[in-house]
Amino acid sequence: MSVDKTFIIVGAGLAGAKAAEALRHEGFDGRLVLIGEEPDRPYERPPLSKDYLRQETRDKPFVHPEAFYRDQDIELMTSTRVTELDAGSKKIVLDDGQSLGYDRLLITSGAGPRHLDVPGSDLEGIRYLRTVADSERIGERLQEGGRLVMVGAGWIGSEITASARQKGCEVTMLEMGSLPLENVLGTELAQVFLHLHQDNGIDFLAETVVERFEGDGSVERVVMSNRAVVETDFVIVGIGVAPRTEVFEAAGLATDNGLLVDEHLQTSAEDVFAAGDVANALNGFYGHRLRVEHWANASDQGQIAARSMLGKSSGYDTIPYFFSDQYDVGIEYSGYATEWDEVVFRGDRAGREFLAFWLKGKRVVAGMNMNIWDVHDEIRELIRSRQEIARDDLADPQVPLSQMLEAKSGSGVAR
Ligand SMILES: Cc1cc2nc3c(=O)[nH]c(=O)nc-3n(C[C@H](O)[C@H](O)[C@H](O)COP(=O)(O)OP(=O)(O)OC[C@H]3O[C@@H](n4cnc5c(N)ncnc54)[C@H](O)[C@@H]3O)c2cc1C
Repeated sequence: MSVDKTFIIVGAGLAGAKAAEALRHEGFDGRLVLIGEEPDRPYERPPLSKDYLRQETRDKPFVHPEAFYRDQDIELMTSTRVTELDAGSKKIVLDDGQSLGYDRLLITSGAGPRHLDVPGSDLEGIRYLRTVADSERIGERLQEGGRLVMVGAGWIGSEITASARQKGCEVTMLEMGSLPLENVLGTELAQVFLHLHQDNGIDFLAETVVERFEGDGSVERVVMSNRAVVETDFVIVGIGVAPRTEVFEAAGLATDNGLLVDEHLQTSAEDVFAAGDVANALNGFYGHRLRVEHWANASDQGQIAARSMLGKSSGYDTIPYFFSDQYDVGIEYSGYATEWDEVVFRGDRAGREFLAFWLKGKRVVAGMNMNIWDVHDEIRELIRSRQEIARDDLADPQVPLSQMLEAKSGSGVAR
């Protein structure tokens, strides 16, 4: 059907791999090139802060078996960096100087860790976690035990902290804010995570800003702006990620906290699309742009972008979804809440087995399940329905979530 066309995907992570799979699945039979700067074929990152980091498995979490790329006639170019884009003449340039023309281009270049730029940042023993190589290196260090300072108490910082503790390290967690994850989850939920870490023996230092690292070649201590000092054997920094837009911004593509894309994941340049962590995408459900740094988003958007490239776009209106595992706790979070009126709990908060619902007015804007499973689809339906739900029903474990939806749709409330 499009045998004379060339589609190129820049960035061989999850979004890129899922896009390549979807393009073939949807019948694209032209030339398909997937280019990534890492030496490995596409893999999934969530295990890198969990079982793979703890070396409970040594199997790299590849998205597809090796044979997949050959069987699907996907030209996978690893250890290859795209250094330039010329959107006018529809060409990209590779780091060996070769240039490749495309009919349609998909950018799935992801995000990279934000670096802490303070005196002593270049000392040995200060690490960041993004790639499988980072995870292997940090995993080796965790095996030796000792004292770790974890800078940052977001999702990555929280998961690394849990894994390090599980490997027997003494961990001090530093956070600029008051509580772990407070800016995403709010105070009540953040307190649940604080207690989780403290019950597992973590020293949590709130409202702490790193002023400098000190040591003789290797990091030995962290000095904070309040003059507090923590002695340590190694440091991991997890202070967020930045979208990898550098090459594409230089090519004139519109950016603002990522590559700006419309509901069909098309960038400001003709025939150029973007998906995954790098894309700041117009979400049809919310009516504004979102840049989501989660596994499910990379997988979903990769597939949506593939359909858009083929002119079969269904549009992006997905409700964000995220999962995390820390110690013996697993959570799933659905929705997108930047402001809310209250959080309603259902279940055993102290025992860490509960659901939480973020309400704006009487509408559920986000929900989280902690150590309770098979409910996130219903939570997402509650969010998508935009229905008003009685607070007492949400709090009552005897009222099934599915019943609330049925009750409301049965009573004719607009969906
Ligand atoms: C340690 C860790 C744990 C995580 N845990 C969870 C979790 O529990 N739950 C969850 O929902 N999400 C989790 N995430 C987030 C999730 O993994 C990301 O959202 C997802 O990987 C994004 O996929 P992507 O394909 O958009 O980007 P990436 O996975 O970043 O892939 C982009 C690829 O493009 C390459 N690239 C960039 N620029 C170029 C260029 N110019 N030329 C060639 N190649 C280029 C990069 O090297 C990279 O390999 C985790 C992330 C990390 C790092």
